[in-house]
This record gives sequence, structure tokens and C-alpha cells, in this order.
Amino acid sequence: MTTRIVVLGGSFGGLTAALELKRLLGGGADVTLVSDDDRFVFLPSLPWLIIGRRKPGDITLRVKDILGPKGINFIHGAALEVNAEASKVIIPDRRELPYDFLVVSTGPRLSFDEVPGLGPEKGHTDCAFTLEHAVKTGQAWRKLLETPGPVVLGSSQLVSCFGPSYELAFEMDAELRRLKMRHKVPIIYLTSEPYLGHMGVGGLGLSKRFIEDEFAERDIKPVVNQAIAEVAPGEIRLKDGARIPFKLAMIAPPFKGVPAVAPLGNPRGFIPVDKNYRHVKYRNIFAVGVAMAIAPPEATPVPTGVPKTGFMTLKMAKAAAAAIRADITGIAPPVAGELGVVCLMDMGGTAAYMRAYPVLPPRQSSYMKKTVLAKWLKLGFEKYFLWKMKRGLSVLP
Ligand SMILES: Cc1cc2nc3c(=O)[nH]c(=O)nc-3n(C[C@H](O)[C@H](O)[C@H](O)COP(=O)(O)OP(=O)(O)OC[C@H]3O[C@@H](n4cnc5c(N)ncnc54)[C@H](O)[C@@H]3O)c2cc1C
Repeated sequence: MTTRIVVLGGSFGGLTAALELKRLLGGGADVTLVSDDDRFVFLPSLPWLIIGRRKPGDITLRVKDILGPKGINFIHGAALEVNAEASKVIIPDRRELPYDFLVVSTGPRLSFDEVPGLGPEKGHTDCAFTLEHAVKTGQAWRKLLETPGPVVLGSSQLVSCFGPSYELAFEMDAELRRLKMRHKVPIIYLTSEPYLGHMGVGGLGLSKRFIEDEFAERDIKPVVNQAIAEVAPGEIRLKDGARIPFKLAMIAPPFKGVPAVAPLGNPRGFIPVDKNYRHVKYRNIFAVGVAMAIAPPEATPVPTGVPKTGFMTLKMAKAAAAAIRADITGIAPPVAGELGVVCLMDMGGTAAYMRAYPVLPPRQSSYMKKTVLAKWLKLGFEKYFLWKMKRGLSVLP
């Protein structure tokens, strides 16, 4: 009998899981991917889009063009709910999608509502985390270049993705210097991290000293260990009473699990899994990428979350697919190792290469180095990844 597999989410985790499952199981599996977005967006390039170095069409692919040639079904619509007891996903018009296995990769819910005045829709701040938000932030950036003023970049409490804010701080600094305008635009990096370079993982090698030095050299003023109480037009009000004026503020919001799958998860809606990314209670449900739960390595004074990077998400999706194949065919999955992370952080004219194994401390190894080679690698990686994804070559690294 054909095994019915449903995958939720059409991004790094969902696409990789669906492609891997089809590759491993062929005609033995009927794979259906459900996503509320019919595009794959290469999110790591959004900071470049904001600065004006990319257009939306440069970094998006059509999900159906990736899945169709591989014989994977695509439903463009939001999953509304998962009935884990009955193994069914509910999609619009109360249609039911029964499954033998479910892979959840629905990413974060950007929870702007938790901080009054935060966010590009109902609030007064911009954001870099979706294509639509980044396009809007790009417009705000161009306006700032016409009428310069203070910029605030960073993360509110309960964020679990810090890299893009660091990248934007470096990139905006470099761009303003190129335009000979840096002296007209003070840059503040505001964060819930207890110290610079913490990144939700307790730091990574020399990251604290590294970022401190680089920010000092570039005159980017850090304001760390802060929770935001509210945002008014042109002013961020911190919980400790301080106020930070801005002309442009790009602040990452608290992260939560998306409502359709949040009941499967912890109080923030992130899904608890074992080392094969299998739900701890519902054994035919897997969760990968931002949707799954990783406990922070330490309690920080202002709560922060552990990032699940694209690199980590691909590894998780492949491991989950191998575990599902094992359940169906009896072919043992590779022994699940500890998750490591490799990251390239753009810094304007150069970049930092970051590597940690495992992701959380104490670690076997960690490394961070600034090198122009990392910038070239980052540029090349974007082209490689879009090339690979367009062809559905999930087997490649
Ligand atoms: C600006 C930015 C820069 C980044 N830079 C890097 C980097 O340089 N290196 C790196 O390794 N990582 C980077 N990351 C992180 C990386 O993008 C994430 O790790 C990755 O996107 C996680 O993939 P995911 O599949 O878990 O979730 P997401 O990419 O968030 O995708 C979630 C998917 O689920 C869909 N969805 C949501 N709700 C539903 C629903 N109810 N029903 C159906 N579908 C739904 C969404 O439309 C989307 O397709 C960056 C992230 C951002 C935002």
C-alpha cells in the first residue's frame, strides 16, 4: 500500500523533507506538501534586498515548479489544524488530509502583538523576516537616505534569530560610508541578548569580543540585555524606562509556533522532538526547522531563543526523512549525530565565517573569523542553493 506523507511548509525544511522522502521512497510514497506561500524565498538574501542589491525575482522560486517534476503534490493553502489523534490535517473549506506520516516545517509566527506598537502592519517598526516585510523595509531605507536620522536595529525579547540584525547593522554601516553619509545616521544595535555575540546560543567562540571590536570600530552603539515595553511613532520605550528615538527601526519580533501546529508544542508553540525529529508523543509526526523546540543553553535575564538556521534545518529535514524511510522499509537510518552549525555573516565589504559543533555549549569546537573569502562564499552559496533547489536536488549538501 502507498504510504501517505503530508509535509507542512514550503521553505528550507518542508521542501527538503518532501524531496528527500520522494527520492528515498519513490512510488512507495504519496507525498503532498501544503504551504500558504506558493513561493520559496531564499530568506538569507533579504538583507541584500533591503539595501537594494537584490530584487524579489532574484531570490524566489515557484514551489510547484520544484515539486511537480518530482511527482510531489502541492496544495497552496494554509493548514488550519492538525488532528494528531486521527492523523489528519485540516485545510481550507474543512477539507481533511489523512496521513500516515506528517512532517511539520511551518517556521515561526512573527508575534508582533506581544509588544505594543511593534511591527510593520499595526505598529511603527520595520522587519526583515519575510519578503513582503523586507520590501517595505527597503522603501523605508531609501526614504532614510533622502532624510537621514537615527537607525535602530536588533531584536525584541523572545527572538530566536539574531544573525539578520547583525548583518543589517554591518551592511547599513558599509553602505552609508560608501555614500559618505555615515556621520548623518547614528546606528544603535538594540538586543535582548545579554551581551553582543550571544546569538541565543551562549556565544560562539570569540563572538563576544569579535562583535564588540567590530561595532566599536564602526561606531555602532550596542544596547544589550533589554526588553521592549512598547513602541511609539519614532520612539522605542524599554522596560527599564529608557527611550530610544529612531527614524528607521528594524526590530525582530518575538517568535512563536504557528497557530495550526502550536497545540502540538510547548507553551510557545514549538514542537518537542527526539534526536530523529520525531514528536515525543505522536510518533508519526516529525518537526524540523524553526517549528521544533530546542531548550536554550542558559536562562538569559531577558528571554531569548535558540536559532534554527537554514543549515540546521536542512540537516533536520534529511534526518527526519531517513527516519520515516526506516519506519516504512526497515532500512536503518544513519545514527543521528549532534547538530552543528556553519554560518556566513555578511559584514558589508567582508564577512565572518562561523562554525560551532555542537550548536550549544559546551562544545567540541567553535570558530569565528573575518575574511573576504567568506563574503565570496556567501555570494556563491546563494547562487548554488537556488540552482540546487530549482532542480529539486535535495541529495546535494
Ligand atoms: C532575514 C533572514 C536571514 C537569514 N540568514 C540565514 C543565513 O545566512 N544562514 C542560515 O543558515 N540561515 C539563515 N536564516 C534562517 C533560515 O532562513 C531559517 O533557518 C529557515 O528559513 C528555516 O526554515 P523552515 O522551513 O523551518 O521555516 P521557514 O523558512 O520560516 O518556512 C516556513 C514555511 O511554512 C509555511 N507556513 C507557515 N504556516 C503555514 C501553515 N499554517 N500551513 C502551511 N504552510 C505554512 C510558510 O509559508 C513557509 O513556506 C535567515 C532567516 C532570515 C529571516
